[in-house]
Amino acid sequence: MARFLLISLRNNPLRCISRVQRRPLARQCQSIFQLEHTRFIQKEATHDEDIPGDSSQNKVLSFPDEMKKYTFEDPFQIFEESCTLLKDQPPKRLEFEVGQDIVVYGYIGKRKDMRSNFSFCPFEHKDSKADFQIVSQWDDPDSRQYFAHQNLKAIPSYSPVMVMGTVQESKQTATDPLVEAKGLSKVELKLQYIRCLNTFPKDVAVSKDTVWPAKSRHMQLRFDPFLRDRLFFRTWVKRSLVHILSTQEFLEIETPILFKSTPEGAREFLVPTRRQGYAYALPQSPQQYKQTLMAGGIQRYYQFAKCFRDEDHRADRQPEFTQLDLEMAFATGREVMDLLTMMVTTLFTRLHRHWKIVEINGIRHPVRIKEMVGKRDSLETPASPETGLADEINTPEISNRFPRPKPMTIMTYEDAMGRYGSDKPDLRIELPWASNIYQIGENGKGLPSRFTQMISDLQDPVVEGFRFRLYDSRPSESVKFIREFMDNLPNTTLKIGPESVPGVFVYDSSKPLYGLSALGHDGAEVLNDMEDSWPQCEDGDIIIMHARNDEPLSGGSTELGRIRTALYWAAVKQGLIPENHEFKLLWVHGFPLFSPTGDEVGQGGTAGICSTHHPFTAPLNDEDFKNLKTDPLKVRADHYDLVINGVEIGGGSRRIHVAEVQEYVMRDILKMTDEGVSQFSHLIDALRSGCPPHAGFAIGFDRLISVLLDVPSVRDVIAFPKTNRGEDLLVGSPAKVTPEQKKTYHIFEESDIKPTTE
Ligand code: ASP
Repeated sequence: MARFLLISLRNNPLRCISRVQRRPLARQCQSIFQLEHTRFIQKEATHDEDIPGDSSQNKVLSFPDEMKKYTFEDPFQIFEESCTLLKDQPPKRLEFEVGQDIVVYGYIGKRKDMRSNFSFCPFEHKDSKADFQIVSQWDDPDSRQYFAHQNLKAIPSYSPVMVMGTVQESKQTATDPLVEAKGLSKVELKLQYIRCLNTFPKDVAVSKDTVWPAKSRHMQLRFDPFLRDRLFFRTWVKRSLVHILSTQEFLEIETPILFKSTPEGAREFLVPTRRQGYAYALPQSPQQYKQTLMAGGIQRYYQFAKCFRDEDHRADRQPEFTQLDLEMAFATGREVMDLLTMMVTTLFTRLHRHWKIVEINGIRHPVRIKEMVGKRDSLETPASPETGLADEINTPEISNRFPRPKPMTIMTYEDAMGRYGSDKPDLRIELPWASNIYQIGENGKGLPSRFTQMISDLQDPVVEGFRFRLYDSRPSESVKFIREFMDNLPNTTLKIGPESVPGVFVYDSSKPLYGLSALGHDGAEVLNDMEDSWPQCEDGDIIIMHARNDEPLSGGSTELGRIRTALYWAAVKQGLIPENHEFKLLWVHGFPLFSPTGDEVGQGGTAGICSTHHPFTAPLNDEDFKNLKTDPLKVRADHYDLVINGVEIGGGSRRIHVAEVQEYVMRDILKMTDEGVSQFSHLIDALRSGCPPHAGFAIGFDRLISVLLDVPSVRDVIAFPKTNRGEDLLVGSPAKVTPEQKKTYHIFEESDIKPTTE
């Protein structure tokens, strides 16, 4: 075999494909490579006598119909021939050398006819291992190249084909930025034979940047290599996470999709059955099953679970989504947080090692680092949370590697809400651009009441503020920017109530009282006295103040927090402060166990409160447990959320593992009805059977991928996403129920029950 290779290389002195050249194949593989992946035709097949073993593999490759013009009007014929071709010439892993004849499957692109006997045609190989171009040329009308040429011209662009051609060095100079970024070898195939495997419609116009309607998602997938790459990235991340969990002895267990309705917190989807009056519900998460697994003696569980929530279609939510769900027996919340910290840092380390980010037409896009393709790194040593390093990075210098995150930050819910006005702050919003939020004066009550009354109708409110700086900090620029921002303040999305308006100042040393005259001398003095906490103001600094009720903070954000975030992004969008592509990771913990019910679906209790996370979450400590009865809104939960760049990537909690406590919370605190509690009887029974203490977590997997890739929507990382109205326009779901189905599944419409009296 070695002898054959030597002779082959001597006779084919042209360069090998770079991948083959750089990474010599193991001896054992060489024979497979040569025998299986190369087919020799007449002229080139001169080495038959040198090849030991199965000489039938090296027969001249010819096709009985190669000297025929091909007609493929008959779809039945295309179907039959495609099946035969794939059976006789099954697609192989592609390894080849210049000068060899190979059979490849893929799509042809738009052909360019240079002369009547000479054309170029892009060819997209099914594995995208190289950037192919078909070169079709004939000199003799009795040659197979002549017939191949005619056939190529007859096949509609973008059709799937089988091609047999001779590998040539490419003379292509035109470059596609994505192909360049991937460093794909450019390869020409001198056309010998081509067959169409199905026809692409001639009346469909395709251009490079076409955005296809949602109804044609398959076209978007087919013609948007960026989308396909993102799906590949998603698979890669999923595999990495599974690998990490398998080193930690987690068991992958699938739980049922046909569940039952329970008041866990979100609105569910019901699945009618043929049994009158009975329905399944789709799980909003596998929460109750995973806790039951803990009662069943499973120590560590995980699964990639589909979850279903019939939410109002708020921005960028999907009615069905994927969670990486996990649970650990005999574990505290802290242990779960440590495990997740290790998982996420290890994942980032692997991303940094294997991926780079390239910018193409202003879009940041992930590309595998070529040297690392096919290489695995050891996950035996998990990443240390302090350094974020799994092991030594031992790979070539590449400047645009996937960024590593800053070390994990941890803060309480109270701190997050107080300092950032958000329970999922984006820590990239920071100095020198934006200060934290501070209470103005002691406890936010230091400003003169004449000013407070100017900005708010509230009685004795707390006034908070933050300072914001632009890159070009001339006061005139700041005034222009902030005026435009305030004029266009999107009150609806920012939900700014009527009780308070933001007080806005631009610090300017050339103005009386530095531009703070609305505060008066005494008010300006209060700001001055805050120098320890409030960073020293400079000319052009924007100061925004806002009043709120003097109550403990609750919910997901404050009005001032929303303004701060919106202001930051407005400035980034206008290029007035630089964009920051770092990853900032944060744990927020100690959330309130309950929240006022408000618009939430909740657990249907009559106490006016509902569980902030879900009703199975345990109070944080003894003191919180004691407060359950007397002051439930004050009780903190052993509940933790993982936040990356202002997006909640996942959440989890330690659970109530004793049945009596679980019932107490449901009945006595949430004031759920007997019926409501009985819907959880399976879980309460499981807890009663000596269930160990346990805690867990779920990563919103779609969300994680969209944050890692910095794309605006989870739809960009889901193959078949649903619209804002929860519809899949490709298949047309949800679909209208037919009269037949209504009968079978006992579905009635209001009009069926109460005939209209007209
Ligand atoms: N089931 C929870 C959720 O879907 C996650 C957990 O508490 O483990 O958010």
